[in-house]
Amino acid sequence: MKDTNEMKLIFDSCSANEGFARVAVASFMTQLNPTLEEVADVKTAISEAVTNSIIHGYENEIKKIEIRCLTKGKTIYVEICDKGKGIENVEKAMEPLFTTKPELERSGMGFAFMEAFMDKVEVSSVVGEGTTVKMEKIIGKGRSAWNTQSL
Ligand code: ATP
Ligand code: MG
Repeated sequence: MKDTNEMKLIFDSCSANEGFARVAVASFMTQLNPTLEEVADVKTAISEAVTNSIIHGYENEIKKIEIRCLTKGKTIYVEICDKGKGIENVEKAMEPLFTTKPELERSGMGFAFMEAFMDKVEVSSVVGEGTTVKMEKIIGKGRSAWNTQSL
């Protein structure tokens, strides 16, 4: 039996679409029988990545953000891509409390939240070309087959 499923979304980088993206991915992942907590974790990670593309990548210009989502077995893989200004030093950008927009009262915790709520986060970025955030999470970790079926 095929155990993969894939979808792709392309949408404008306006802040109204941040909620749309979060709910679309949450809805797509329901096929993995997630708990409410697992759905909330993925939604938070998507929000942080999409907000970053809107605010930092495109600096509030309206361009396109793309989300690719794949489920394979019990794992959800998500990629959030923008073709914005890119990140000079990814390692530094991912440090907790690092922000290039303190004047906007950003706390520099977006990547830290993504890493806390997902099992794996990888960022690739080229200055002037854009940024891709790849994340994955195993759904149902630690739950027995019996528990999963009873959800
Ligand atoms: P917070 O998420 O807490 O509001 P923040 O967005 O500054 O604050 P992070 O989400 O951790 O914090 O991002 C850290 C830094 O990485 C940002 O300040 C920005 O410089 C850079 N960055 C993150 N995502 C992108 C992106 N898509 N394009 C360009 N720069 C980015
Ligand atoms: Mg952020």
